[in-house]
Amino acid sequence: DILTFDEFLRHWSVEKPNGPALLQEDRMQSYADLEEMTARIASYLHASGLKKGDRIVWIGKNSDLYFSLFYGAARAGIVMVPIGWRLAPAEWVYIVNDTQAKLLFIGAEFENIRTELTGQLPYVEKIIGENEARQHIAKTERTAFDASGPDDAVLQLYTSGTTGNPKGAVLSNRNLFALRKHSSELDLAYTRWDENEVVLVAMPCAHIGGTGLGIMAVASGLPALVLAEFTPDGVFDAIEKNGVTRLFVVPAALHIMLQQPRCKNVDFSKLKYILYGAAPMPLELLRQSITMFGAEFIQVYGMTETTGSIVMLPPEDHDPNGNLRMRSAGKPLPGVEIRIVGENGEDMSVGDVGEIWTRSSNNMIGYWNLAEATDKTMTEGGWIKTGDAGYLDEDGYLFIHDRVKDMIISGGENVYPAEVESAIFGHPDVLEVAVIGVPDEKWGEAVKAVCVPKPGASIDPDTVIAWARERIAGFKVPRSIDTIAALPRNASGKILRKDLRAPYWQGRD
Ligand code: ATP
Ligand code: MG
Repeated sequence: DILTFDEFLRHWSVEKPNGPALLQEDRMQSYADLEEMTARIASYLHASGLKKGDRIVWIGKNSDLYFSLFYGAARAGIVMVPIGWRLAPAEWVYIVNDTQAKLLFIGAEFENIRTELTGQLPYVEKIIGENEARQHIAKTERTAFDASGPDDAVLQLYTSGTTGNPKGAVLSNRNLFALRKHSSELDLAYTRWDENEVVLVAMPCAHIGGTGLGIMAVASGLPALVLAEFTPDGVFDAIEKNGVTRLFVVPAALHIMLQQPRCKNVDFSKLKYILYGAAPMPLELLRQSITMFGAEFIQVYGMTETTGSIVMLPPEDHDPNGNLRMRSAGKPLPGVEIRIVGENGEDMSVGDVGEIWTRSSNNMIGYWNLAEATDKTMTEGGWIKTGDAGYLDEDGYLFIHDRVKDMIISGGENVYPAEVESAIFGHPDVLEVAVIGVPDEKWGEAVKAVCVPKPGASIDPDTVIAWARERIAGFKVPRSIDTIAALPRNASGKILRKDLRAPYWQGRD
């Protein structure tokens, strides 16, 4: 088994020296090129005074340079920290300082950071632009470096900040290769990552959905085509012109793609697999996507702290004709344990909802500089408490209800927003919907749906409530409906329910 970036780069550069590894726009790096480039990067970082365990930061859009820097640093056990370029400057400052990195790499569009953040980054000794970095690397001679071991940290990813402040999850070589190892043990067409595939990295590299997919591609010896950022046209072009066979997107991205008039004219015939996850998938959106894109769909469930996917719903469970399994997130991958745990730490029976706990070699080392949060999330027995609520059915399929924190308790009944959102999603006037609990004298909390109307439509609360009543149990049906122009979302496309709730709970939460 290959367990480190150093090993896998040496392996593929011998196995497939001329095979394409990284593609972006008109740039192509073969496996031999990537091996050479990453060895130089490791040498360059050493020459800059960095050693094992030090951090470097990337602020920029997705770039082949980011991936090279990450793999090169990882070979020498230097930890890459990609920061979401959509975050506000104050958030960049907070994270950069939290890492104490001496080198800050910035993407080509972010040169203004040099002036904008002057005086705010006490640890940073050098800010290196994208072109400058390429020049430095080209000039550096490769020297010997101390290669990282399987359990050395190599990547620090900040969580999406959906429920609170983002936390830096520290991941090792072993964590990252577990991603590939676990799914390849299934040895099925869609987990084999066939030689002739081309993988599209369209989600942000600061998220496990972007960086993790890039790793999966390269660790499997396939080319990763890197898209600077997600745009529907960028994805469509990559599918039509570059022969992309596999991509990962969040549900919100599929929704945006479906909204495009161009969508029905795109030739999707080469696209074999669409992996989706990171947020609940409304059933109606999944049905529409299956019809439109024709590809095989694979759902993944996981979190930054578990290095991404730990549970997978395979294509054969995506029968749009009312297959209940389509509501499930799938089964744990080989090597991954899942438990459903009640409030007193007891294991729940089949069908009963509790908190999802997981254990596998995917589990992070811990949160950076947050000992208390780490202790709260990771048990001594090696389990991660996901903070998600769900249950297992008799066949071992996991059904995710929602965040434990987002659960609405209305009249003593538990209501999970995702289920209500999924029910309302197909209403002809509703473009998007988010469900929250608001204070209610009689029920404790009452279910409220906040809807974004389709262009030209308006929301009639009574028809939306009637629509929901036909599809879900009475206690889950919203008591009230609000209209909003757009839903607050974070950079990974997740609905920020905490922001929607805030005005209703002022002074009471
Ligand atoms: P924070 O931890 O900072 O609040 P976050 O949890 O959104 O942010 P991520 O690690 O990016 O940050 O997301 C992991 C979460 O995404 C999971 O805990 C789960 O709630 C949700 N999620 C992931 N995959 C799925 C899926 N297939 N279905 C439903 N929810 C999912
Ligand atoms: Mg989380």
